[in-house]
Amino acid sequence: MIGGALVVSGGNQVVMGSKLQKEAGVANDSVQSMVSDFMKNGDRKNNESALTLFARNVGDATDWLNEYAGVQFDMKGGLHKLAEYSNDRELAYFGGGSAFMKSILQKLSSTNIDLRLNTRATELKRDGSTVVGVIAQDSDGNTYDITAKSVVIATGGYGANKSLLSEDLQKSLYYGRSNATGDGLLLSDTLGAQRQLMQYGKRYPNGVEIAPGMAKSTIAGNIVAFNSGSAILINKEGKRVVNEKASNRTILETEVRQTDGMLFLFMDQKTFDMWKERLAHAGISQENIDAWLKNNGSRAPIFIRGTTIEEAAGALNMDAASLKATIDTYNSYVASGTDSAFGRPANFMKAKIEDGPYYLVEQKPRFATTMGGLVLTDTLQVVGTDGKALSGLYAAGEVGGGVMGDDSPSGANNAWAITSGKLAGESAAKNASEK
Ligand SMILES: Cc1cc2nc3c(=O)[nH]c(=O)nc-3n(C[C@H](O)[C@H](O)[C@H](O)COP(=O)(O)OP(=O)(O)OC[C@H]3O[C@@H](n4cnc5c(N)ncnc54)[C@H](O)[C@@H]3O)c2cc1C
Repeated sequence: MIGGALVVSGGNQVVMGSKLQKEAGVANDSVQSMVSDFMKNGDRKNNESALTLFARNVGDATDWLNEYAGVQFDMKGGLHKLAEYSNDRELAYFGGGSAFMKSILQKLSSTNIDLRLNTRATELKRDGSTVVGVIAQDSDGNTYDITAKSVVIATGGYGANKSLLSEDLQKSLYYGRSNATGDGLLLSDTLGAQRQLMQYGKRYPNGVEIAPGMAKSTIAGNIVAFNSGSAILINKEGKRVVNEKASNRTILETEVRQTDGMLFLFMDQKTFDMWKERLAHAGISQENIDAWLKNNGSRAPIFIRGTTIEEAAGALNMDAASLKATIDTYNSYVASGTDSAFGRPANFMKAKIEDGPYYLVEQKPRFATTMGGLVLTDTLQVVGTDGKALSGLYAAGEVGGGVMGDDSPSGANNAWAITSGKLAGESAAKNASEK
């Protein structure tokens, strides 16, 4: 299929060094600053040379995407302010991922590119150690034997392939696409391609398990419930354990240490109403919520409503006295403007927890994007386990790079897919024209 993950993504992108970043008011960002922010976010596990290549080229790639491919950015919305970045460097696509794809399709139709949908590459053709094409099969059972001087693997991540996932990722809920099967990794394995950082994925702490092993995100609701409402995060013992406005990473690390590796949102009626309103966009309907509340915590996803605090706690076998004490303490922090236990900022403690009914909603780790993949040279050539580049074989996007380390900051994966895709295309074309 065309579009891949970007179509369903949050529709934002790092635009560091582009004309658009300058136009939006930031002219003094730098490769060094971006590399340093990414290294910090990725626990310094990043492949630094791939990351530097990314930072040096993302600006040009963004301008190319805008000027050549016609993808528009939301300049009115402006650069986003994000805790991970020292300089504002993320923009949204105007009209989101679907508008992005319409622009690409329009551009494609003006070229002579031969696009085959529903066609799966099943083998890399070789002549000795040089890759010379692919064998592919379409959904009608037709086989294609394609000869090419250069092959670019751009098959995305491996989140939908359990056999490639670490124990931590296997335990996390998945909310990515079913086509993230890691095919590029498996195909290039026969050539002895080198992999890196395979154990990591971009995990968030705020999934609800809508089917066994599958998640939907409540992040949009959580933002408003913490910013303007009185939602708190508690563990199964009814205790607060983290600043609800801490980074996703901090909340996740706290969450996995709790009983059953999960947390719960606790909300009064007023906050629950503002929280659920934001979820339609994330694919969670009022009908879903009603059905889950009916189960009253008997199965996932755990959604509980209690007319009293005791009733809500009882449905989870949670100690009601402990939960009551947690609520009283939190309300005293709101009154004094200081969360002396976890440091939730005063401007995010605007409301006390007040009238019921009360709600408990599960929060579990979820992931879609994988961080590991093929090791690449600066010309995006795939590197073998012997450290040498594999002749004729290139890779781009989520399948390669290791640029993020163990976690990716906002808008980085889309930016890497675009930047590495452009660079790999250029290298592949150069290689083909040289022969
Ligand atoms: C729900 C979701 C939300 C996200 N949100 C964000 C976000 O807000 N910001 C951000 O920066 N990133 C986000 N990401 C991540 C980002 O969108 C992806 O990392 C990026 O789009 C990957 O691009 P790609 O081209 O490498 O792979 P993909 O977009 O996954 O494309 C790979 C393509 O290869 C095809 N394919 C696979 N195997 C074969 C084969 N054997 N033969 C032929 N074709 C094959 C697949 O069908 C697919 O079309 C999100 C991802 C998801 C799933």
